[in-house]
Amino acid sequence: MLREKNENYIQLCEKCDPSDDVINLILWFDGSAFRKTGKSGKIWSMMGMVGDLNPNIRSKLENLVTFFHLGTSLPKNNLFCEKYMESFENLMNNGLEILIGPKKIQIKFKIMLLIADSVAYPKVFNCNQYNGFFGCIKCLHPVKSIKTPKQKRVYNYSDQYPIRSKIMYENAVKVAESTKNVFEGIKGYSWFSKFMNIPEQFYLDILHIDFHGTFETMINKWKKDYKNENKKLNKFYLNPSKRELFDQMVIKVRYPNEIKRHQREVFENLGDLKANEFRNVIYYLVPLFKDFLKDTYFLHFAAYATALRLMCQIKISKDDLRDAFLLMDYFVKRFGHKNMYGLVNMDYKVHVHLHYAMQVLNYGSLIYITCFIFEGM
Ligand SMILES: [Zn+2]
Repeated sequence: MLREKNENYIQLCEKCDPSDDVINLILWFDGSAFRKTGKSGKIWSMMGMVGDLNPNIRSKLENLVTFFHLGTSLPKNNLFCEKYMESFENLMNNGLEILIGPKKIQIKFKIMLLIADSVAYPKVFNCNQYNGFFGCIKCLHPVKSIKTPKQKRVYNYSDQYPIRSKIMYENAVKVAESTKNVFEGIKGYSWFSKFMNIPEQFYLDILHIDFHGTFETMINKWKKDYKNENKKLNKFYLNPSKRELFDQMVIKVRYPNEIKRHQREVFENLGDLKANEFRNVIYYLVPLFKDFLKDTYFLHFAAYATALRLMCQIKISKDDLRDAFLLMDYFVKRFGHKNMYGLVNMDYKVHVHLHYAMQVLNYGSLIYITCFIFEGM
């Protein structure tokens, strides 16, 4: 396949199969909630884009591929290969014959990356959920149970747990299959392991992890006044008048021309903000928070926003990636401290920020592989 050698994605191309007769797919798997005439449920879809294409055109609507939409019930683990994946498996095994002028060409397909949110990835990889034991498919963090007063599983900070390799994952599958018990969070075989390296090719996307994940959670916390346990005012709490003042400043911000969306009030529209509005706040509005958040919270937030910004650049130097790794490590380490947000808030999405630097090292900038287009459909 002809690839334009643009620096934005040259690193990505080098990680996949660069053969001319191969199309490398970025797959996206998700469930969309619906509500109709009193009924509600989810429609599960697998869609994809051609990873070999330049990021500027890769996510255009006309270049997307729909593989299937599943019914409205939640699929059981690993159901895909049994019922729905026959034609996809045929495509992966046999490819497709196409005519270019008089010439017949046999095109092969490979999985470059797979994106799935925290609800969908356990279905894809046949593993425990994010809040189950060993629920992170990227590493062997065992999770910790705490009483909040309800029982809750959290990812206390540690950089000591091993990263899962393909071999470790495959061994866990073998043990789980032979003992019929969950082993290291793995329940058994995943159909996708035939065509991709699990977990390396599982991609953590910034839309779910940050814009509608950790950042949205943090900004919601800044609206919460009391902790449940001790009824003391949260140290990070911004009262209504502060929030109103912040919003008045925010709507006066003028963004660079390439940003079309007008900035709405952040706190007033919090439940309705789009992912790219959260992105704009992280990208451009961090200094505004300096006069609102206490110093420790502002510095912590600034470290997080800077790390993300560094990892979303078009070209990321080794020094920038090292700085981003250190800042993100600091962010995760401090997040659960009793003088910050506390262990109770150390959830899966906060934890996986520790895996971002390795992902950037392997696949390049976080901003060029996103599911903005899929989520908007
Ligand atoms: Zn992990």
